Amino acid sequence: MDNIVALAKRRGFIFQSSEIYGGFNGFFDYGPLGSELKKNIRDCWWNDMVRRRDDIVGIETSIIMHPKVWEASGHVAGFSDPLVDCKVSKQRFRADQLFFSPVTVTGADGVAKIVGYVSALESEKTTADLQAAAETFKRKKAIVGTLAAVTPKDLTEATPEEIPLIPSPATGEPGSLTEARSFNMMFQTNVGAMTDGSSVAYLRPETAQGMFVDFKNVWDTGRVKLPFGIAQIGKSFRNEITPRNFIFRSREFEQMEMEYFIHEDADWSKCHQEWIEWCRQWLISVGLPESKLTLYAHKKEKLAFYSKGTTDIMFEYPFGVQELWGIAARGSYDLTQHANASGKPQEVFDEGTKKKFVPHVIEPAVGVDRILLAVLCAGYAEEDVKDDKGNVEKRTVLRLSPRIAPVKVAVLPLLKNKEALVGRAQALYKKLQRRYAVFFDDGGNIGKRYRRQDEIGTPWCVTIDFDTIEKPGDTFTLRERDSMAQRRITEVELFALLEEHVY
Ligand code: ATP
Repeated sequence: MDNIVALAKRRGFIFQSSEIYGGFNGFFDYGPLGSELKKNIRDCWWNDMVRRRDDIVGIETSIIMHPKVWEASGHVAGFSDPLVDCKVSKQRFRADQLFFSPVTVTGADGVAKIVGYVSALESEKTTADLQAAAETFKRKKAIVGTLAAVTPKDLTEATPEEIPLIPSPATGEPGSLTEARSFNMMFQTNVGAMTDGSSVAYLRPETAQGMFVDFKNVWDTGRVKLPFGIAQIGKSFRNEITPRNFIFRSREFEQMEMEYFIHEDADWSKCHQEWIEWCRQWLISVGLPESKLTLYAHKKEKLAFYSKGTTDIMFEYPFGVQELWGIAARGSYDLTQHANASGKPQEVFDEGTKKKFVPHVIEPAVGVDRILLAVLCAGYAEEDVKDDKGNVEKRTVLRLSPRIAPVKVAVLPLLKNKEALVGRAQALYKKLQRRYAVFFDDGGNIGKRYRRQDEIGTPWCVTIDFDTIEKPGDTFTLRERDSMAQRRITEVELFALLEEHVY
């Protein structure tokens, strides 16, 4: 992960926000290559989800909506995480990410006793961290006996008697943690000149409500019929208590969400399954390896009361297997809530049964930043390769799909000071540039130039060499990033190659 973060900074993919002021926790900036990569992910999704389908339309709704939207949706009352404060360090933790365990030791008398508590922040090795902390605790206190295996629970499960005994992860000492309390994650702002309660509004914590609130507008104007979907891409904001894992969990992020409206009598489970598979295939189409994708079906008892089922597509990040894309069957909950709160019915008319009903919905919701991080993690590799003289050297390569790579082709004249080479290269570059993001590089030896492109994920380099200008056929050397294989190619073939892979 450290290597990926370093590469992202070094090559201008991702910077900390406001870095010259020391950064701002939970916020990030995308540099020249990062913003291209992000745009390509968005464009692929939009093209596949909206333009290439007859049953889905796109919209763009405002970030700040009427505050009543968030009351009706349940976010004002319930969009919260459990929060614990450390009174000494003033640090805050998410209670469901702070784990603890009693330290249980069996003495010579054969009786197992709790001799203290240990804590650890959630990670891919929480249990091992707790066990190590328990061993250290026993050694430091010179306690004799056999240490039992730890029994991790999170802070929301701690009893009021246990809380004062659990050490704060910030200080290592017990006595400073508060009980878990609910913390609403919506960012508040004021709209207009007044700053009293009447002007309170929220930055949206999800884009989905835009689709529900505009359902009738689209239905009345969009020439749509069930089943159909409304999709949107846009920024969302959540005051996450513990933003972490680089851009995985941030406070400002971008979502791509789609609400697929179906008949109340439709087979929602079949439709849910179809969307799960569509999303999985889409992730594969932008280059994520199938082997790193798994499905997690939420347990029935943990679902919101209105939810019929939620399945997450999980990705194996370097810091653990985590949610990438959530696909939820939400019934008619959202439209019904807005109908009740606004007094405006959100029903449609069934010509067959001559009955009105509120459509049900399947919602695939994904974060652009999480996909971007996943493609960086999956694509990053360091390899030993041989140079032209047979010496082994290291190369860093980003195996990004051509669909989303920030630069599709690098155009390289073999020598900088040969006008005929540079002229032919410039002509090709200008022509490619009309359709694709391409890069012109005439500096340094050709091997170094290839390495620079490997590191930013450019799938192809085209070298304009002496064969190009001296031999018939006007061919170039095409060098492939992954295999490093080289072959000769004409301009027409190059455009055909791009047409096939960049869509
Ligand atoms: P998590 O459990 O990780 O907080 P969630 O279940 O609350 O996520 P949803 O509300 O279902 O997430 O949001 C849909 C998608 O938006 C997520 O699958 C994820 O890709 C993205 N997302 C949610 N929160 C964040 C965040 N803080 N930073 C980046 N992406 C996010």
